[in-house]
Amino acid sequence: MSSLEIRDLHVAIGEKPIVKGLSLTIQSGEVHAIMGPNGTGKSTLSKAIAGHPDYTITQGDVLLDGESILEQEPDERARAGIFLAFQYPSEVPGVSIANFLRAAVQARMSEGEELDATAYYKRLYQKMDLLKIDRKFTSRSVNDGFSGGEKKRCEILQMAMLEPKFALMDETDSGLDIDALRIVAEGVNTLRGPGLGVLMITHYQRLLNYIVPDFVHVMYDGRIVKSGDKSLALELEARGYDWVKQELALT
Ligand code: ADP
Ligand code: MG
Repeated sequence: MSSLEIRDLHVAIGEKPIVKGLSLTIQSGEVHAIMGPNGTGKSTLSKAIAGHPDYTITQGDVLLDGESILEQEPDERARAGIFLAFQYPSEVPGVSIANFLRAAVQARMSEGEELDATAYYKRLYQKMDLLKIDRKFTSRSVNDGFSGGEKKRCEILQMAMLEPKFALMDETDSGLDIDALRIVAEGVNTLRGPGLGVLMITHYQRLLNYIVPDFVHVMYDGRIVKSGDKSLALELEARGYDWVKQELALT
């Protein structure tokens, strides 16, 4: 059992405060969704947890299994089991997915430890079978002419290979086309289980028709202003975000 605890987190970009006191604890096995209007700080939250250097944590803490990760470099956080998906990995022509994933797996290993090629391919093929990915897929170059769906498939496979404790998934603001949505949903539903905690960040309720979260949180102006179960997502779809803002204005 692992936990990821976000404790009164404040994040600034330059001088500008974006996340303004956000607290949330995710246990392994749980899927949490954060929803909220554009510009509310959702992507800032996920990048700050992953350790992106442009995001300054001005207050609060992030703890993995009770230990602060804020002093750790992004690669140390990744090695500790935090995976940030949906970051638009750039095209890497000439590097096959198989080799790209191998480098990613190797990078998560401790110094001096060598990745055994036979064992690696065995595991890769197991994960591909699990996710129903065609063997031909891994000989293609990373993101070279990929469709939205293929990019997602590559990321889900990467997640399956790295076996993170916590996956932070930030749906892009432009959203996902239906093919990409289905791939992400099937992938997450296949990988979800007692060893994995998921923070699913989404602008759209749609995704949550396919990935049923255990908890739903509404983020507004850098804070979580409302939490509930999956019915909250349905309510948001039906009523939009304005009623949440109105409720806030009354309190
Ligand atoms: P969301 O993901 O909820 O749409 P973001 O975290 O992307 O919100 O953005 C929150 C706020 O931070 C927005 O007002 C946005 O303009 C600002 N912002 C995001 N990235 C940067 C950046 N690199 N430099 C300056 N401001 C930024
Ligand atoms: Mg965003």
